[in-house]
Amino acid sequence: MGGGQLGRMFVHAAQRLGYFTAVLDPDPASPAGLVSHYHVKTGYLDQDGLAQLLQRSAAITTEFENVPAPALATLGAHRPVAPGPDAVAIAQDRAQEKAHFIRCGVACAPHAVLESASDLERVPEHLLPGILKTSRLGYDGKGQLRVATRDELARAWDDLKKVPCVLEQLLPLAAECSVIVARSHDGAMVHLPAQWNLHRGGILAVTEAGTGALPEATAARAIEATRAIADGLRYVGVLCVEFFLLQDGSLVVNEMAPRPHNSGHYSMDACDVSQFELQVRTLAGLPLVQPRLHSPAIMLNLLGDLWFSGGAEAPPPWEQVLALPGVHLHLYGKLSARPGRKMGHLTVTGATTDAVRGIALQAARVLG
Ligand code: ADP
Ligand code: MG
Repeated sequence: MGGGQLGRMFVHAAQRLGYFTAVLDPDPASPAGLVSHYHVKTGYLDQDGLAQLLQRSAAITTEFENVPAPALATLGAHRPVAPGPDAVAIAQDRAQEKAHFIRCGVACAPHAVLESASDLERVPEHLLPGILKTSRLGYDGKGQLRVATRDELARAWDDLKKVPCVLEQLLPLAAECSVIVARSHDGAMVHLPAQWNLHRGGILAVTEAGTGALPEATAARAIEATRAIADGLRYVGVLCVEFFLLQDGSLVVNEMAPRPHNSGHYSMDACDVSQFELQVRTLAGLPLVQPRLHSPAIMLNLLGDLWFSGGAEAPPPWEQVLALPGVHLHLYGKLSARPGRKMGHLTVTGATTDAVRGIALQAARVLG
């Protein structure tokens, strides 16, 4: 379900293991639809489309976290669906997600759930300055506004169309990190190494793994918390949990994604099992093995902005990028570039962290 780049990389991993794939996405040029054996080009709630997908599939997964829960319930009545509709429904709603973190004993940002104008008046002073986030449908920093005062909060709530929101205290971040786990039907779980993440403008820009950017003890705590969150959901599939590392050294959970995640793309080139193969394995009931990182890795996201850096629209100079040793270029086959649109990524691997860092800097310079 879903034809974006995450679906495309899942399809590639499934096909490498010999599977046939079917993708449901209304966009005829969707990145995953273009590379799948079958492409059902209907909306997510189209009964005929869902029937076609069922006919082609032995098991079904999602790459798009806003697939309507009723569509997953329809599919789940006939085929194994992983992750399950319940887990996806929790991950789709920031308020429910935070309640789940608290149930699992994992600290999250101080926050208030805002559903009506009267909730605004009851907001405690210590949540300001804060970030107002829509409970549903936010991604890449969209659907959120920073607010410093009660007046700004009232205006932001208007700007976000008065939909249910969560107001979070603005935390003093020292760094951000994430952990990806895969959990099977029988509860077995493996994890990728914890990733250090850098965001720009609310969008992931850089991920590092195995470079020492993240203290060992922090990584261990984040992995333990992610396992507790996945166990608490009786989760089946690949789950990514994002964390904030605060300036006082404490670790706070931010949000989760019920699917492979941008911050795990390095695993395709730097691990012996990628996050997408883990998704295939959990879906097909194949054994899970603990992934091994065989190289330090730095991943750079390639946003559509790079296509416009010279004024007129033109692709970046791939010849220069590909001339650098240890660069693995992934482009998602999107037909047009737009600022902020994820067009691809590149991962740098190498013998040492210094070598990887040097090449990543050169690649960044070539890309401007
Ligand atoms: P999205 O669903 O768009 O990824 P996030 O909740 O992860 O939304 O927020 C995007 C980014 O905004 C985070 O990665 C972080 O850099 C910043 N951010 C979000 N919440 C807070 C907070 N409470 N305090 C400080 N920074 C935050
Ligand atoms: Mg996020």
